Amino acid sequence: MPELPEVETVRRGLQPVLEGARLAKVEARRPDLRFPFPERFSERLTGRTITAIGRRAKYLIIHVQDGPVLICHLGMSGSFRIEADDDSETPGVFHHERSKSTAHDHVVFHVVSAAGARSRVIFNDPRRFGFMLFAEELPETHPMLAGLGVEPTGNTLDGVLLASLLKGRRSPLKAALLDQRLIAGLGNIYVSEALWRARLSPLREAGTIAKPAKKAREQSERLAEAIRSVISDAIASGGSSLRDYMHTDGSLGYFQHSFAVYDREGEPCPRPGCGGHIERIAQSGRSTFYCRTCQL
Ligand SMILES: [Zn+2]
Repeated sequence: MPELPEVETVRRGLQPVLEGARLAKVEARRPDLRFPFPERFSERLTGRTITAIGRRAKYLIIHVQDGPVLICHLGMSGSFRIEADDDSETPGVFHHERSKSTAHDHVVFHVVSAAGARSRVIFNDPRRFGFMLFAEELPETHPMLAGLGVEPTGNTLDGVLLASLLKGRRSPLKAALLDQRLIAGLGNIYVSEALWRARLSPLREAGTIAKPAKKAREQSERLAEAIRSVISDAIASGGSSLRDYMHTDGSLGYFQHSFAVYDREGEPCPRPGCGGHIERIAQSGRSTFYCRTCQL
């Protein structure tokens, strides 16, 4: 499932093709994905110019001139790819099984850049948990986005803010970090990674790092820093894979990561001198990977 860094990678990949381009034609090849497409979906976008492509949590937000704001979510298996719109095959080898299955190409945006270059931006989603909706007003007031917490990117999330979000919370730290009303777009993988970097147990009570004591203040600082760095490192590795994909099949948003703990059950803890092993436990029905020796 794409997490925030993948969505940000998709945004950065789409930006040079979409921003400033005109939507010459928009094809929705079925009536729905996870939700029905908005009424007059193609009609309301066709002929309009895309002014900006942003992101909030895991939502892509596409602004068009004098039109609705398009909110896209990749769901479990959604991906975009870019092809030259000259009906020739994209050069390079299709190493991505995903993009071969054109049966799952559900939306095709035919775009023309300001310089006249034609491209197809194709949304492929085998499991169809993705969706596209319109926001008529400011997208942040849309019901999907209205209750979202702080972004884990940039400098907004610091130790003081994190402590204020977690103060008095009795839930396990991992569960609190997954609560989208507190921090938006942080998913299962990066929570495990951030807790390992911060040397904090996923099982400890969330409020324990939000106490006035110096130790708690250091812990909340460490965790805020770990969250920001784990996300920014993943975005940076997405950026390098973006350049690779551009030269192959044009698929955006899925790339190989190297994780310290995620999916590494039984392996030695990678922290120098720790000597512990990575365990997998279930929390709220989801896997958590951590090292009980160095994460306290
Ligand atoms: Zn360890």
